[in-house]
Amino acid sequence: MPPPLGFIYGMIIGWRTDLIELVFNPSTAARILSIPLGVHGGPDEFHWPSTTNCHYTCKEGYKDMRNLLSMAEALSSTAVTLEAKFWNFLWSSRALPRCKETCWRAIQGYLPLKERLFSRRVDVDPGCPFCATERENEDHLFIHCPAAKHVWFASQLVVRVASFSTFRELWLAVLELHDEEVLALVQSTVYAIWEARNHTIFQQRQFTMDNVLGRVRCLTEEVRVRDQMRAPSVALPATWKTPTSGTIKFNFDAYYHVNGSTGLGMVARNCNGEVMAAACSYPHSALSPLLAEAMSLRWTMQLAIDLGFRRICLETDCLQLFNCLKAKENERSYLSSIIRECCTL
Ligand SMILES: [Zn+2]
Repeated sequence: MPPPLGFIYGMIIGWRTDLIELVFNPSTAARILSIPLGVHGGPDEFHWPSTTNCHYTCKEGYKDMRNLLSMAEALSSTAVTLEAKFWNFLWSSRALPRCKETCWRAIQGYLPLKERLFSRRVDVDPGCPFCATERENEDHLFIHCPAAKHVWFASQLVVRVASFSTFRELWLAVLELHDEEVLALVQSTVYAIWEARNHTIFQQRQFTMDNVLGRVRCLTEEVRVRDQMRAPSVALPATWKTPTSGTIKFNFDAYYHVNGSTGLGMVARNCNGEVMAAACSYPHSALSPLLAEAMSLRWTMQLAIDLGFRRICLETDCLQLFNCLKAKENERSYLSSIIRECCTL
């Protein structure tokens, strides 16, 4: 019979770290050690960690396989990683969503430009609506067309786009600069040129450089107003309140890093605000920030009992944990197991 991977010593239940690290490779051992164990024992259960309720479905299994495959592809090619970096940068911009989307469509070649439509046998004149001397494609409309060149040069960016042979090259230069303000301005300018092109074709409006530059200024102002409205109002500093006489208040929290490393901390104070106890603990790891918070609560409650405090008050900054405790859902998940144990405690 193989030796058990867990141990029970008095009230302490834990993984046999020495044995697990001896048998498994480091990454597998770390995964095993991050599985929370119930302090009261209980039968083993099957859990699917990718869903919140820990139930396996074919859909979730498929999604996980897809994620694993795309991660493997990204790791196998630096080009793909660079591409991912590029798109992340482009979408993280402060520009308006419609500007970002237009740029994404232009770079991907999804804009219904005349040359593209013509090549698909749509009955249109493939010529540029501004200069009518060249066919309308992304490189011409946004870079080579004299109208676009004037806009870029007269804009706040003062760019001589003639130095770029393709539209994509312009974007690679923006990526290299890695300047958020420049990125948002480039995106707004591309959108303004695209809008002016549509107005010229569909509303027979005359293209003027001043109109396009004025539009870029309007878009920039729209961004500024939006950001101002989104900025959080100055929050009042949270004040800690003393518990009622005879009650000990426990404030607890958990630290969680994406690599799984976890830290738990708590401080107990009486009605005069005097510190009665304080502790920290470093469990092997947790599977999620919420699980770390739940582990922190269970650990704090166990400490309160061990220290002999009977009238206690627990305070957390994790609303999600509070809601889980209130709901007391009896589903099959690591979180529910810990919540059940907290209720027992
Ligand atoms: Zn043109």
